[in-house]
Amino acid sequence: MDFAFTDEENRIISEIREFIEKESTPEMLEETHKLERIYGGKLGREFIKKFASNGWLCPSWPEEYGGINSSAMLTYMIKNEMAYSGIPALFVGAHMAGPTIMEFADEKMKEKFLLPIAKGDLEFSLGYSEPGAGSDLLSLEMRAEDKGGHYLVNGQKTFNTHAHVADYHWLAVRTDPDAAKHKGISILIVDFKTPGITIRPMITIVGSRTNEVYYDNVKVSKDCLVGEENKGFNYIMEALDYERMFPFAHYRKVFENIVEYAKEKIVHGEPLSKKPLVRQKLAQLEIELEASELLYYNLAHVLDNGKVPNYQASMEKTFVCELDQKISAVGMEIMGQYGQLSKGSKWAPFDGEMEYYYKWSIVETIYGGTTEVQKNIMAQRGLGLPRV
Ligand SMILES: Cc1cc2nc3c(=O)[nH]c(=O)nc-3n(C[C@H](O)[C@H](O)[C@H](O)COP(=O)(O)OP(=O)(O)OC[C@H]3O[C@@H](n4cnc5c(N)ncnc54)[C@H](O)[C@@H]3O)c2cc1C
Repeated sequence: MDFAFTDEENRIISEIREFIEKESTPEMLEETHKLERIYGGKLGREFIKKFASNGWLCPSWPEEYGGINSSAMLTYMIKNEMAYSGIPALFVGAHMAGPTIMEFADEKMKEKFLLPIAKGDLEFSLGYSEPGAGSDLLSLEMRAEDKGGHYLVNGQKTFNTHAHVADYHWLAVRTDPDAAKHKGISILIVDFKTPGITIRPMITIVGSRTNEVYYDNVKVSKDCLVGEENKGFNYIMEALDYERMFPFAHYRKVFENIVEYAKEKIVHGEPLSKKPLVRQKLAQLEIELEASELLYYNLAHVLDNGKVPNYQASMEKTFVCELDQKISAVGMEIMGQYGQLSKGSKWAPFDGEMEYYYKWSIVETIYGGTTEVQKNIMAQRGLGLPRV
C-alpha cells in the first residue's frame, strides 16, 4: 500500500498555501468565522472566485466544467487545507449538489449549473429537513403539485443552513403522495428570488444561523427538476454520502493550538506539557487524528476507484465528529476556566477558539445525519445486519 501523495498533488497544495497566505484578509476570515465557514458571504465570494479560477474548487471535474481533471485525492487534500486555514470550507454547490448534478441531471442542467458552481459564482442551500422529517427524511411532506408546465410548491423546511446567503435551494419535495414514501420524492433546484419564498433565522447553541424556509404557492418550472421525477430519494442518498465526507483539519488546527498552550502555560512553576496526564491525553488525540486522516483519505481512494463511499463516509463522519468532541473536552480541561472565555475577551486563549469549537463539536454530530443514524448505516450496509 502506498500512502504518499504524488509530487503534483504536493506541488498544488504548496501553491494553495501560498495563495491563501497572500490573498486572505483579516476581514474575510472574520466574515467566514461569523458565517460558521459556510460559503456565501460577500468577501468570501470575492476570495473564492479568485481561488476557483485556478480550478481548485472542483479540481476532479472535467475542464469543460471548471475542473482540472485531478484525482479525488487532490480534491480531498484541498478540502482539508481549506478547513485548516479558516477560509470558507462548507460548500453545498461544489461538494454536494454539484457531484449529484454531474451524475444524474440532463445536459441542459449540467450546462446551466456546473461551470458557475466550479467558478464559485453560485451557492446552494440543502432543503431536506422539515419539522417532522429529520433522521426520518422519508416522512417529508413539502408538496410539489404538477400543474402542467410547472409545479406548485407549498410547505416548510427547517435547518436550511446556507439559505440566507445562497442563490439556489436544493429542494426535496413530495411529487407523488400516493406512492410508497421513497418513490414519491423529487429534487428541484429553486432560485431563492422566486416569489412566495420566506426565509427566517434559527439560531443554534453556537450562535450560528441556520434557517426555516417557507413556500407559499411557489411556482417552479419543470426545467428545475433534477433527473427523473420521483427518483429524488436516490439522489438525496448520494448527495448525503458526499456531505458526510467530512474534512477534519479545522480540529487539527485547534489541537495544535492546545499543544502550543500546554507548552507555554506555566502552572506551579512548570509548563503544563510536563504533566503526565496532559501528555497522555494529547498523545491519545494525536493517535486518533492520524486514524482520522486514514479514514478520510480512504474516501478519496474509493472515489478514485470509481465508487461513491457510502457506509465508509458514515464511518469517517462518526469517527471525526466524535474525535472533535474529545479534542474540545481535552482543550477545555487543559485551559481550565480560560477555555470558557469567548471571542473578544483579552484573557481568552486563541481568541476564544476553545469555547467556540467546544459548542461547534456538538452541532457536528447532528447535521448531515446524527451519529446514531450513521451507526445504523454502518450496521446495515457495512456489516450486513438486518434493517430495523
Ligand atoms: C446546525 C445544523 C445545520 C443543519 N443544516 C441542515 C441543512 O442545511 N439542510 C437540511 O436539510 N438539514 C439540516 N440540518 C438538519 C439535520 O440534518 C437534522 O437535524 C438531523 O438529521 C436530525 O434530525 P432531527 O433534528 O429532526 O432529529 P431527530 O431525527 O428527531 O432525532 C432526535 C434524536 O433521535 C435519534 N434517532 C432518530 N432516529 C433514530 C434511529 N432510527 N436510530 C437511533 N437513533 C435515532 C437521533 O440520533 C437524535 O439523537 C441541520 C441541523 C443542524 C443542527
